[in-house]
Parts: sequence; C-alpha cells; structure tokens
Amino acid sequence: MKLGVIGVGNAGSKIVDSMVEFEQLTNRNLCRHVLVINTARTDLSKPDHVPDDRRILIGDTHQKAKGHGVGGDVDVGAEVAKNDLDEIRRAFDDVEIHEVDAILVAASLGGGTGSGAGPVIINELQKMYDEPVYGLGILPGKYEGGRPALNSARSLQSFVSKTDNFIAFDNDAWRSKEQSVGQGYERMNRELATRIVTLLGAGEYDEATVAENAMDSSDIIRTLDTDGISSIGYASTAVDRKEEGLMSKFRENHEISNGSSAAAKINGLVRRAVNSRLTLPCEVSSADRALIVLSGPPSELSRKGLESAREWIEAEVDTVEVLAGDDPRENATALSAVVLLSNVTKTPRIEAIQ
Ligand code: GDP
Repeated sequence: MKLGVIGVGNAGSKIVDSMVEFEQLTNRNLCRHVLVINTARTDLSKPDHVPDDRRILIGDTHQKAKGHGVGGDVDVGAEVAKNDLDEIRRAFDDVEIHEVDAILVAASLGGGTGSGAGPVIINELQKMYDEPVYGLGILPGKYEGGRPALNSARSLQSFVSKTDNFIAFDNDAWRSKEQSVGQGYERMNRELATRIVTLLGAGEYDEATVAENAMDSSDIIRTLDTDGISSIGYASTAVDRKEEGLMSKFRENHEISNGSSAAAKINGLVRRAVNSRLTLPCEVSSADRALIVLSGPPSELSRKGLESAREWIEAEVDTVEVLAGDDPRENATALSAVVLLSNVTKTPRIEAIQ
C-alpha cells in the first residue's frame, strides 16, 4: 500500500526513521510521505533517514515547552498540539492524498508528546481525509514505573477510539535484560519496522513483477477495518546464505532454509509467525480477522503453501475472515511471513493498562 507516515514524539519519530531505513534497504516503496513532529529540538534531530524539511517542531513558543519537550506531561503535549494545529495542518497540505491509501501515526503512549499530541493530530487527520488513519502505538514496560503507565492508561482509549485500527507494540514483551535501554530500543524499533513495512509494503513493486497471488492494498485495509487493537507475528527464513552488510542487522531471527518443499516450508513459516513473540502478546483465537503476507523471491512462493497456511489460521482463530497474499521480491535474501491479527480482545497487557 501507499502510506503517509507521521511520527509524533521521540519514540514515534525513531520508529518512523527505522521504517524508512528498512524500506530503503529492501527497495520497497511504502512511505510516500514522511513527517516527524516533536516538542523537543534534540529529539527532532535524532532520525537519520527523515529529510530535514519533514521535521516540525511544535510548542516552541509555549511557555512550558519552549522547544525543550513537555517533560512527560500528556496535558501539555495535547495543549501544544492544539495551539499549533495551523502549523501541523500546513505540513499535511503537502500530502497529496490521492497518492496514499492510508495514514499511519506512530507514537509512544508512555511519554508526553506522543501520548498527548498524538490523539489531537489523529483527530485532525480524520477530519481532513477520507482515507483510514491507523495508529502504531508503543506501550511502556512495567519496569518503567508509574508515570509512563499512567500516561498510557490516559491516552490508550483516545488512540483506539480515534484510529481506524491501533497496532500495538508492547515494550514489556520485547525487553531484553542483556542489552542497555538504548540498544534494546534500537533492536525493538528494527523488529517493529521489519514487521510493519513487510506487512503494509506488500503489493508495492514495479510493474515488471508478476505476482501469482498478489496482495492488494484493499485486502490490508479490509483486515484493518475493525476499529480495534491489532498485533503482528513474523517469521523469516534465509534463502541466500551470502547475505551480509547493512541488511544483516534486520535479520537476527531467521533460520537457514533446510531445503524442504516450498509448500511445507511456507506452512511451517506461517505457523512459526503466529507462534512467535507477537508485537502485542494476545490470545490468537480472539482475533476478528487475519491477514498473511508472504514476502520473498518468486521462486520460493507457493500458492499451495499459502492456501494451506490460510486454512490453518482459519481453524486456529476460529474465523472465516483470513486473507492471504504474496509479495514477490526479486532480490530478497529471505522468505518472510507476516501475520496481522486484527481486533484482538484477549490481551493481558491492555487489560492491565486499562
Ligand atoms: P515523548 O517524546 O514525550 O512522546 O516521549 P517518548 O516517545 O520518549 O516516550 C517515552 C516512552 O517511550 C517510554 O515509555 C519508553 O518506553 C518508550 N520509548 C522511548 N524510546 C523508545 C524507542 O526507541 N523504542 C521503543 N519501542 N520505545 C521507546
């Protein structure tokens, strides 16, 4: 699909940056419009892959923010965004909406800018555009203590009610005790970017590519059209052992192909994706709809494998609404399966935050 992507606050902007990096490294063409919005000048300078003219500082004249952030205060985050709506709207004016199928707003719920300004910005986007507006929200870890938990409890409902779908990522589930906080975030952001770009970037390739069972953006929109909370599973297996260089950091989890038949491999891969650590741990069977994207070299894609994986998920989530499609990538060095579980209701972390 063609996407307008907006990062709000520190974590939201870093995630958008990772998405753009992954997209560039894999020659995908998903993020047609990129924008990061922040209240802190220092955070605004962090992204490496977002053009300078696609970064906006808000609240620099606000007496509490003054370009130094909102100090984790959700109310100030919301107030600053409301005060600067004209400036934000002007930045959206550049987004030629016929060029995008949907808009994704990434933000963490545990801070002040993303948590407070995020829902205000989403509200404005919903007023301005007919296209769906999705949220990509980071839930704080329990280990972070009271303030982030309280912030997320306050803003979760706004994010969920204002977006057409809220895709969640739970820092708690992805925390690694072996890494520093900074290293941990970098890894988490890459993991999330890999999943979201592989999922939403499906179907966007040059016209020379022939897909047998191609994913269409309308299938992605249909699956996300539940007004609920979603989680994503992912698994990948190497098809080229020579893979080196920059891409290798996005490939920490794949297994080397064992030469089994294409169909069996795909079926196994999709099952592994569903049973993997999800972006938001949940009971898979509570999902309303599901979507499988299988991305990799055309020679590795098998219609039979995808169909049997689809049937397996259908039984697993107890629903007939399971869509599946290919995403052929001529030069891909891995075969990846992404499974989107839409409108999951049995999610302990969401219940705890609420
Ligand atoms: P804001 O700029 O005021 O919105 O504040 P932040 O985005 O820094 O929000 C703080 C919350 O974001 C905390 O709950 C952190 O757990 C989380 N966070 C900060 N940076 C990252 C990151 O790079 N990745 C992830 N996954 N979470 C982050």
